[in-house]
Amino acid sequence: MVQYPFSDAPKPAELIEVAPRVQWLRMPLPFALNHINLWLLDDGDSYTLVDTGIDMDITRTTWQQLMVGPLAHKKIGRVICTHFHPDHMGLAGWFARDFSLPIHMTPGEFEAAKLWHGKRNQALLDKLSDYLARGGIEPGQARSAVESRGKMPTLVSSVPETIVPIDPALPITAGGTSWRVLIGEGHAPQLVTLYSAEHNTLISSDQILPQISPNVSVSMFTPEADPLSLFISGFGKFKALPEDTLVLPSHRLPFYGLHSRVDALIAHHDDRLAAALNACAEEATAYVVMAKLFPRMLDAHQTFFALGETLAHLNYLIGRGQLRRTTTSDGVWLYRTA
Ligand SMILES: [Zn+2]
Repeated sequence: MVQYPFSDAPKPAELIEVAPRVQWLRMPLPFALNHINLWLLDDGDSYTLVDTGIDMDITRTTWQQLMVGPLAHKKIGRVICTHFHPDHMGLAGWFARDFSLPIHMTPGEFEAAKLWHGKRNQALLDKLSDYLARGGIEPGQARSAVESRGKMPTLVSSVPETIVPIDPALPITAGGTSWRVLIGEGHAPQLVTLYSAEHNTLISSDQILPQISPNVSVSMFTPEADPLSLFISGFGKFKALPEDTLVLPSHRLPFYGLHSRVDALIAHHDDRLAAALNACAEEATAYVVMAKLFPRMLDAHQTFFALGETLAHLNYLIGRGQLRRTTTSDGVWLYRTA
């Protein structure tokens, strides 16, 4: 059973203490999922901030309100970015440049940030177009998806020029206690979650979310990858934590019920894998399988994520010998049960 001990989320520029010396705050996002949770760990003379929010005027304004309000007498001393996604590190470059704050990240996330948030160029868009075409998306639709992607603001101020690398083998002392680093894979390459045994609290980032299944996608940079295997096999270390751990996720509300939430995520992917296998009883493109896994109409942006998630399930099944893949003379992948 998942239970939510805090029914009200903090309002803009408000802080709520959720564990000893752990403050919860929220920043808006311009998506259907309209917020991200951030955490401030009270280090006595300053705060450690976990994740930054996206780079938008409203986020910068909210930070400025916090800095003259609740954070006027105790400043942020350093920033930990759990992973490279724009809602988590969108303002890392701004904090580094304008406030001279050190940015702590794993090397794997720093490399991903440079790859994804670096300069947009035609070669990158061509690569994306090629990836969508291999997935079986009609050329016209692929073009409009790529155009919409090309026009999308990056939502990241800049990638910091330097970081303090997080060594997963070493605990991080923050908020007056020691946090073990537990790395999550599959949603991002080397995502940081933090567990305090003293407070029995897990900052889970996007690895374990209530109600939402984190996006696990095959990207255009690594079309043969099997991120779903990495995502699922990583659950063991979270199930080794106590069931009554307070989980602080990046979206929705803090919760209790870590083990049942992990079990629900595994069951969700088992359902998806069965549906993907079923969809390949007759030879099918990834796009055809995607339409069965995601039957509601998707816009160009959602199609990009849905195709990546579909490919993650297909590659997982190929890795287990349950599907085989062939390639047409046009370079489109076809899948069929083995
Ligand atoms: Zn994420």
